[in-house]
Amino acid sequence: MSRFAIAVHGGAGTILKSSMTSVLESQYLKGLEDALKSGYEILKKGGSSIDAVEAATISLENFPMFNSGKGSVFNHEGKHEMDASIMEGQFLDAGAISGVSGIKNPIALARLVMEKTEHVYLSGEGAINFAKKIGVKIEEEDYFFNEFRYQQWLDIKDSGAVKLDHSDKKFGTVGAVALDINGNLAAATSTGGMTNKQFGRVGDSSIIGAGTYANNKTCAISCTGHGELFIRSVVAYDISCLMEYKGLSLKEACDIVVHDKLVKIGGEGGLIAIDALGKIELPFNSEGMYRGFIDTQGILKCEIYK
Ligand code: ASP
Repeated sequence: MSRFAIAVHGGAGTILKSSMTSVLESQYLKGLEDALKSGYEILKKGGSSIDAVEAATISLENFPMFNSGKGSVFNHEGKHEMDASIMEGQFLDAGAISGVSGIKNPIALARLVMEKTEHVYLSGEGAINFAKKIGVKIEEEDYFFNEFRYQQWLDIKDSGAVKLDHSDKKFGTVGAVALDINGNLAAATSTGGMTNKQFGRVGDSSIIGAGTYANNKTCAISCTGHGELFIRSVVAYDISCLMEYKGLSLKEACDIVVHDKLVKIGGEGGLIAIDALGKIELPFNSEGMYRGFIDTQGILKCEIYK
């Protein structure tokens, strides 16, 4: 048995087998698998969990079928505004960005905020200026153009509706959590947010404690779901707190937050979680969640439905 493991997600929501083709399904699963392998390769060579979650998330951001990076949804102005955050569990260092456009890999920018500034969180123009100054890869608007996402936006742009990815109840967003050989935990989350969202809207994905959290004493978490409810429930930190202060196991803490607390306020979605022993939990209260892991036994598994 190894002492490292990794899990990833590509969003939760109403993902039904009846509305999926086998070709699409295998493409989604391949997207998850490639991301897992890119992170696992790093862990296997003794690399850090922060490098592993960044690499896995970049792989998901570059994969156009998930709502982050290249596959990001359109906001009300027909533009892309992306949010991301990353955290490591040894020193509780964290970095986050929100409302950025043109950034190829928002998670890499979040990490640079963590490592190269005095701050934790940069937003909008300030984050973009920092990216330009530090030489982060900027893409033209057409890199992010996706006919499918554009149609989703056209369908609702004049209705005033705000939708999570491509159906009423399908959430996008990607994320990764990992434990490395040195016992360090890390978590990363990246998203395009919600289709037709109001300019300036920020969800849970870039908020440390809500969408992302890591602490070597407890666990690492990356969330996906209805961001407003995840912020109000401080989901990621709540799970860590239940473990730290109440002595609950990762599974017990996840069950309380995902299947009880969130459900009571109508918070649909899920999360991926790993504890200091490499135990993985992938709970969700929606119909499905794109998810996968490689555990401490080296077993790889990717799933979509309940
Ligand atoms: N949580 C993300 C947000 O609210 C959406 C998602 O997970 O798909 O921006």
